[in-house]
Amino acid sequence: MDQPNPHPTPSGHQAQPVVCARCGTQSPDGAPPTWTCSVENGSRQYFCVDCARANLRAIEGRLDSSWW
Ligand SMILES: [Zn+2]
Repeated sequence: MDQPNPHPTPSGHQAQPVVCARCGTQSPDGAPPTWTCSVENGSRQYFCVDCARANLRAIEGRLDSSWW
């Protein structure tokens, strides 16, 4: 039996809590658009704005340019 979500998210997008992989900052409503998502070893990792900026070079080095 499916029960309605007591806190429905707009546009049907399921927000999942994400944690910055570098500094541990939590975003309980899902990754903000300013956060960076990086796929490493098949698992997604998120970086907050500050950490994404700090890791930008490292992330760019691992991803294809088409990702951006
Ligand atoms: Zn961070």
